[in-house]
Amino acid sequence: MAKLGGQAVDALFSGQATGCSFADLPSSFYTRVAPRSLSRPRLLHVNPAVAARLGLNDAALHSPAFLALCAGSGRLPGVEPMATVYSGHQFGVWAGQLGDGRAHLLGDVSGPQGAWEIQLKGSGRTPYSRMGDGWAVLRSSVREYLASQAMEGLGIPTTQALALVAADDTVIRETPETAAVVTRIAPSFVRFGHFEHWAHSALDQAALLDYVVTHWFPDCLAGQADHPDRAVAACLLLAEVTRRTARLMAQWQLVGFCHGVMNTDNMSILGLTLDYGPYGFMDAFQANHVCNHSDSLGRYAWNAQPAVAQWNLTRLAESLQVLGCTVPDLEAALAPFESVFLQAYHAGLAQKFGLAAWRPEDAELGDAWWALLHAQQADFTLAFRYLADVGTDEPAWLSLFADGGAARQWLDRYRLRLADDPRPQAERKAAMDRVNPLYVLRNHLAQHAIQAAQQGDASEIGRLMALLQDPYTQQTGHESYAQPPAADVPTVAVSCSS
Ligand code: AMP
Ligand code: MG
Repeated sequence: MAKLGGQAVDALFSGQATGCSFADLPSSFYTRVAPRSLSRPRLLHVNPAVAARLGLNDAALHSPAFLALCAGSGRLPGVEPMATVYSGHQFGVWAGQLGDGRAHLLGDVSGPQGAWEIQLKGSGRTPYSRMGDGWAVLRSSVREYLASQAMEGLGIPTTQALALVAADDTVIRETPETAAVVTRIAPSFVRFGHFEHWAHSALDQAALLDYVVTHWFPDCLAGQADHPDRAVAACLLLAEVTRRTARLMAQWQLVGFCHGVMNTDNMSILGLTLDYGPYGFMDAFQANHVCNHSDSLGRYAWNAQPAVAQWNLTRLAESLQVLGCTVPDLEAALAPFESVFLQAYHAGLAQKFGLAAWRPEDAELGDAWWALLHAQQADFTLAFRYLADVGTDEPAWLSLFADGGAARQWLDRYRLRLADDPRPQAERKAAMDRVNPLYVLRNHLAQHAIQAAQQGDASEIGRLMALLQDPYTQQTGHESYAQPPAADVPTVAVSCSS
């Protein structure tokens, strides 16, 4: 193994097993490469709840070893960092080899809360950087850091951000910016794209399948102890990834989250939200909202996301054929996507409407809801949140709609439906407030935090992190954080440039 050096941070993880399970794969899956050194790295923010998952206490987080780890100069005991190789379909087109072009896997830590991989993003060039510079700018790093917490707080599966390190290095994008590194953790960062990369090599595909199934999907091997049949295991894996991805899409849709770049290399095999780039939580609802400025054809619009996920799963399925999976078996594994998605989506919508259960005839109420919000560009988050108050504070909800008459018409239908679903109003409101967030990571809020961070002030990041940790509970003094941007606030354009 090449000697790459770096400062060991053994003391940080004392009492916990550290290693790098990804290195069990053949060496063709990765390249050992050291993160780049940063000028004047400093810890801008750390997430103690994520740190606790790794068994890191407050003292550890203030130690030089922790900064070293998150700035790329620290090493887990005996583990040299690596970049992994994957491929993928970008905007519907086969893009060939990609890989961790600016990310380094530092290894994994097994503590009381399971095994977690630690990965740096924005940590320098690797053999998979292609034309990229290996940097991430502070702007996009703050966005990834905050979004990870926003999703976690909403109860949506996601990679988690542990720390945000800022540095003085200049990074050229549309204008010069400064560099930052996000340290993120997940049980695994394996993507659909890892499987696609090995779609033509039965040997390597088998190694990857064995690795993924053994570590995270042991049920796929149930009853196959002696002679595991890889084609069977691969189809069972696909079926489980299909179910997880379908449920994830329902969760995204129900909070108005747009990922922005649902390329197959940004799809997690564990069903996590992964790679926060030009994502967005909608303010005014538009069914075909496109959050990514670079997505001129609207491939990844909000209302396209479930179908895109299905398309991506089909690419994953194709990659498994090399293991001997038959087309009918793969199709059977993919088939439940729609029913799993609709089940989760309808159950979630029923909860958001304060209904005990979804009935098939509620589809009309749901369709009319989206049509109303779309026609009037009503605020996604508040339209749901204020709905719980229509019994007592109807004007607040009505004020979200330009055409009060149309809104009242929908309300009449809704009230009729509620009458059929008896429940004390206070109880219904409490249940609705637990599923309709008051605070989401609106672009303009992230933008304020970015602007302050660019001046070295992380306090706004801290404030948002606290709100996003519990987005369902009203926090006194933070009323403005629940509101859409004022009309004169310029729209924040987010693109792939990060
Ligand atoms: P993304 O669109 O961010 O998911 O990235 C797609 C591919 O481009 C991945 O292989 C990334 O690692 C790579 N990439 C993105 N930005 C950079 C960068 N600044 N330097 C090197 N590689 C990058
Ligand atoms: Mg990516």
